[in-house]
Amino acid sequence: MGAHSDRALLLRRFPYGESSLVCHALTRASGRVHVLAKGAYRPSSRYYAALDLFDTLELEWSATAGRELGVLVAASIETRRAAIPRDLEAFRAATTALELAALGSHEGSADPALFDALERTLDSLAAGVGPQAALVEFELAFLHNLGLAPALSACASCGGVAPPLEQGSPADARVAFSASSGGRLCTACAIAARAAGRRVGTLPAAVLEQAAAILAGRTRANELPHEALERVRDFVARFLEVQLESRPASYRRFLSASNRNAARP
Ligand SMILES: [Zn+2]
Repeated sequence: MGAHSDRALLLRRFPYGESSLVCHALTRASGRVHVLAKGAYRPSSRYYAALDLFDTLELEWSATAGRELGVLVAASIETRRAAIPRDLEAFRAATTALELAALGSHEGSADPALFDALERTLDSLAAGVGPQAALVEFELAFLHNLGLAPALSACASCGGVAPPLEQGSPADARVAFSASSGGRLCTACAIAARAAGRRVGTLPAAVLEQAAAILAGRTRANELPHEALERVRDFVARFLEVQLESRPASYRRFLSASNRNAARP
């Protein structure tokens, strides 16, 4: 039996029996771990009232090879983020980030960059940063960490310059974009992608440039005007959906609106 301790963020928790909990946690050095917290609701337990979502915890647990569930030994709160569950929009955004982290993490496989990105996002939400801004920064970091960030400036296919399509005014400039090809495309690669049967659409160049600035840390998402932020988030959420090949439950509401980046007739 191995003893472990690590910083952790709970991803999910469910009741087990009369007084116990099963917790799925993202730890910084051990990846995702699943533990049984026996008697978690008893005031005498070593982790009573210490197993809330959104807080950074210090967990001690034991794991046995071949057993799916470890056993929680102790838990303490390192950073409490009580403000998140008090604000419905912040709560929804935090839940979305946890859902993505659960999808993008693996049992026993360390991913400190994912842990750090999730913790930063929860810090932002607890500090009152707008939910859309906090979430779009997390989504871009999440895609980048998986090696799936879209090509936003150069052509995804040939790496060359991918200038806007020549139509309309520069303010409305649009570029060829194909999620299944990995992002922005130059004219020649857009033609080749269409010929190969891939879906190629267009997106506003400004949206891609704003996303690139957020991804590179040159712009904070909460510095964008509301409409621009909604458009960047719409683009990132739809791209994420294609990459994950599913629509996470928490995206249904946001993406039920019509595409905010559709070409104007
Ligand atoms: Zn190209």
